[in-house]
Formats: sequence, structure tokens, C-alpha cells
Amino acid sequence: MSSSTRFDDDPRVAHDVDLSSRSTYGLNARASTVLSVRSRDDLEGLDEVIEALGHPWRTLGQGSNVVLGPGCARMTIVSLEGEWGAMSVDETGLARLGAGLALPVAARRLSSAGWTGFEWAVGIPGSVGGAVVMNAGGHGADTASVLSRVALWRHGRIEWISASELELTYRHSALSDDDVVLEAEIRLVPGDPDESAERLREIVRWRREHQPGGRNAGSVFTNPPGDHAARLLEVAGVKGARRGGAVVSTKHANFILCEPGTGASEVIDLMIHMRDRVRHECGVTLETEHRFIGVEAPW
Ligand SMILES: Cc1cc2nc3c(=O)[nH]c(=O)nc-3n(C[C@H](O)[C@H](O)[C@H](O)COP(=O)(O)OP(=O)(O)OC[C@H]3O[C@@H](n4cnc5c(N)ncnc54)[C@H](O)[C@@H]3O)c2cc1C
Repeated sequence: MSSSTRFDDDPRVAHDVDLSSRSTYGLNARASTVLSVRSRDDLEGLDEVIEALGHPWRTLGQGSNVVLGPGCARMTIVSLEGEWGAMSVDETGLARLGAGLALPVAARRLSSAGWTGFEWAVGIPGSVGGAVVMNAGGHGADTASVLSRVALWRHGRIEWISASELELTYRHSALSDDDVVLEAEIRLVPGDPDESAERLREIVRWRREHQPGGRNAGSVFTNPPGDHAARLLEVAGVKGARRGGAVVSTKHANFILCEPGTGASEVIDLMIHMRDRVRHECGVTLETEHRFIGVEAPW
């Protein structure tokens, strides 16, 4: 009996899934299997199912920092849904956020409930789980600045670990591909909801003014120490450069925009071009912020 037949009646399992709506680049890719984990009960026996499916596996959040490639067709993708999108806050300002919750939703709900300290997340279209893995941040703050501890699904069981054990630095954590972030506890302080709402508006305004719309995955490269990747890319003259359906934004040189039907190889070819141009013109080697699933990272 093939693994796909074996799990046909398991409500967590879907085979041969189109992933084009599961990343903000909208890249053309399919997954062999998507495992939708909607509740704590759904974790029961999950490791056995993954093992029996027989493919490498990765967790996917909102897909706002990933390049999804053709190798996903031989992979299992774990997706946190349902109750993992919940959140609660106690009277001391300790908030518990499900890993599947979208950051802008969490930022707005916390702000309107009178809790301040998470406004910076309103313009980042990722999930809480993805923010922990990436130590996402902006506007002078990051996940590390509020995170207290996280619940992980690790080696088939739930484990709470403190933020300090995650070694969070600029767009980096010590989590491995086998760790699934289930929940995050963050520490907030009481604030004035009107001031907080104004801060949200300011951030959204700033993003609209400075960043392009369309299918993108935010900054392609991290900022090198003491400089900005976007400045270097602008100097290197990459704006408007194109590889197939992937084009460097003319508004922001560190953003790639993808037309419908674009594949991972086009994005990667363009990234290589951008990096080579900066190395040639500025003598700086940029590092990417993106993660690669089902396709080899370009370097
Ligand atoms: C318009 C735009 C603006 C952006 N601005 C910013 C910004 O200002 N600052 C910033 O830091 N980022 C920014 N980003 C990038 C991105 O939104 C963040 O990195 C975000 O935290 C990624 O979350 P995600 O859920 O989309 O993760 P995904 O892209 O789905 O995954 C990213 C990585 O995290 C892993 N992962 C995801 N969820 C889990 C989980 N629950 N458990 C274990 N591993 C998991 C994936 O396997 C992958 O390795 C921006 C992106 C866009 C499109």
C-alpha cells in the first residue's frame, strides 16, 4: 500500500497540493503532501505520519520569506491552522500567540486591547511562528525584544523553551528545520490605545510610501553591518533587472516582484545577478534573508 493511499482518510493529510497561493511570491510549486495541524490533538502521532509518508518535511507559515521550488513535489509541508491562530493576554501583559496567527492581526488586536510593544509587527505579513524562526523585526524592535518563551513540537512532543535559548540575533534563530514553533509568549506593557493606533497608522503609511506592492517576499538580502542592502543594490544599478517573471522593483532595489507563473529558478537567477552586481560594484557580499524549500539555496 502506498503512503498516499494509507492516509487518504486522515483529515490532516492532503496530497499533491498547489502551493502557488501559499507564498507571497506566488511561485509555481506543488507539495507531495500538506499536513494541516489544526489542534493539539492533531499533533498526536504526527511524527509517525511524517515518517510513513517517507519524504523530507518542513513547516510553512504565511510563506512571506520563502522561495518554494520544484522539490516540494517530493516533500511534506506542515501547516499550522485552526486553534494555532488563537491568542490571549493575561492581566500582567503576558500574551500567548498561536504560531499560525498572522502578525498584523496580532498587532492590531493587542493595540486595540490597550497593550503596547507589538505595533512594529503590523506591516510584516508573516506568522508568529515564522517571526520567531526569523527573529522578524522592524521600526526599531524585533521578536527578541518582546519574546519570553516558545512552545515547540520537537522530537514528537511539546517542549517550552526560553527565548534566551533561541539565540535570536538579526534575522536568525538557533531553531532547526525539525523544530515546529507552536506558540509564543510575549511580554507587553499597558498603553494608550489611541497613541498605539496612531503608531500603527504611521507604520502602515511608511510601508506604503517606501515599499512596493505586488507579489514579493520583503527584503531579499539582509543589511550588511553599517550599511543598507537597498542602498548598495541601488548603487549597483539592479533596479528593473529581470529574469523570466521575476523583476527587481523600481521602487525598492531590495525587493523582487514576481508575475504569476514565476518559478523558483527565475527568482534565484535574479538573486545571483543582484549579489554579483553588488560584489562587483561595491566589494560587498550580500547574504539573503530568504529561506529555500524544495530548491537548493543559491549559495
Ligand atoms: C511585504 C513584506 C514586508 C516584510 N517586511 C519585513 C520586515 O520588516 N521585517 C522582517 O523581519 N521581515 C519582513 N518580511 C519577511 C517575512 O514577513 C518575515 O520573515 C516573517 O517572519 C516570515 O514569517 P512566515 O510565517 O511568512 O514564514 P515563512 O516564510 O512561511 O517561513 C520562513 C521560515 O520559517 C519557517 N517557519 C515558518 N513557520 C514556522 C513554524 N511555525 N515553526 C517552525 N518553522 C517555521 C519556515 O520553514 C522557513 O524556514 C516581509 C515580507 C513581506 C512580503
